[in-house]
Amino acid sequence: MSIMLVAVIVTIMTVALVAFLGRRRRTIPPPDVLCPDTVEGRIAVHEAGHAVAAWGCTIVQNVELVAIDGPDGGFVKFNTCAINSSDRDWCEAVLMLAGVAAEVAVWGKVRTGGAKDDLLKAREKVQGILGMGDDHAPWRRKPIDPCIPFDAMYYPVLSDAEHRALANAYLHAKNIVRSHGRSYYKLVSALMSKRRLNEAEVADILPRRSFLKIVGMMRPTFITP
Ligand SMILES: [Zn+2]
Repeated sequence: MSIMLVAVIVTIMTVALVAFLGRRRRTIPPPDVLCPDTVEGRIAVHEAGHAVAAWGCTIVQNVELVAIDGPDGGFVKFNTCAINSSDRDWCEAVLMLAGVAAEVAVWGKVRTGGAKDDLLKAREKVQGILGMGDDHAPWRRKPIDPCIPFDAMYYPVLSDAEHRALANAYLHAKNIVRSHGRSYYKLVSALMSKRRLNEAEVADILPRRSFLKIVGMMRPTFITP
């Protein structure tokens, strides 16, 4: 066998190994390990979804607090920079759908009742975007996830354009949650045990926000691990 052929085979095997390890890193562990299907567990899964989306969003300056013990359940407190554009509205729709997307990523369905408000706000954002004649998200459109029946969750029923845009934002949110892999589950676990996580505690768990210095200068979008 020639040296050239050996080199080609080694390269192919290395690329395949890297791709395989990359996929493994993004595999979400079984939900029963770290995400008990209790009221508290559901809130933690939901809020951790919002938190990782905010963490990766280039319009978010800092994630101040993630909690599962608020007066209306859980909440995530974060600050955004002052950019007004349809890209920002797309990001906000994703931030709002990230709780629902996390629930579907973990259990294959929406488990909290508190998602209704998120869904309505995401719809308002999408209506604003479509009203401006824009249906292009800052990220590439992905195939629609069959897991979640959007129309069944909305009344009045979604128009085709609303459905496409919401499904796009939702699927992007779900990919963001998945891309955090184990660190997403660590965040859920920490929320379950501490109930509230401040900025430093969240930073200890999630990957570094290396784009932080240029927040506000970048096009609104999401940077995932
Ligand atoms: Zn929510």
